[in-house]
Amino acid sequence: DPRLEAISQAIRVVPHFPKKGIMFQDITTLLLDHKAFQDTVDIFVDRYRNMDISVVAGIEARGFMFGPSIALAIGAKFVPLRKPKKLPGTRTKYHAGKVICEEYELEYGTDCLEMQVDAVQPGDRALIVDDLVATGGTLSAAIRLLERMGAQVVECGCVVGLPEVKGQCRLNGKPVYILVEPR
Ligand code: IMP
Repeated sequence: DPRLEAISQAIRVVPHFPKKGIMFQDITTLLLDHKAFQDTVDIFVDRYRNMDISVVAGIEARGFMFGPSIALAIGAKFVPLRKPKKLPGTRTKYHAGKVICEEYELEYGTDCLEMQVDAVQPGDRALIVDDLVATGGTLSAAIRLLERMGAQVVECGCVVGLPEVKGQCRLNGKPVYILVEPR
């Protein structure tokens, strides 16, 4: 696809962010390039429009920048998967609904992703969206959240990822669709 080269070029690489030795893939410059941003969304939309996807789940924060556009274009609902304590539900007296949590490993320690249980129903067919997949730990927590509610995870879609990650066992055999490799 000739559009992929321009998408890759629109992603800025920031050396030593957020710490020394990391080559951070910064997709905010892709958002500044209207054509490359539109092409990114279009490629996902073309792939998923006939896959009977009923829910697009976006991972905080950069999954929120691509997921809603894809959801609107394919006629699916959008569900945010959030960092701890952002969603209303479990921690106040006046909870609006339950929130479930799945932990995943970071380089040092763990973090978790949360989802509101009433957002997803058994039988929903899910696409999970994020900007980048590295180890797959974050995506696998997202998969577990959706599967706990009885949804079927059809695929994970990421703008950037290593080609090796496509066959990742941490992702429970779920396919990962990647547009470009890190630069
Ligand atoms: P994983 O869990 O190791 O696959 O890491 C993926 C998560 O880390 C995603 O939510 C990404 O947004 C974030 N991430 C890791 N490295 C980068 C990067 O270079 N650019 C943008 N996001 C990154």
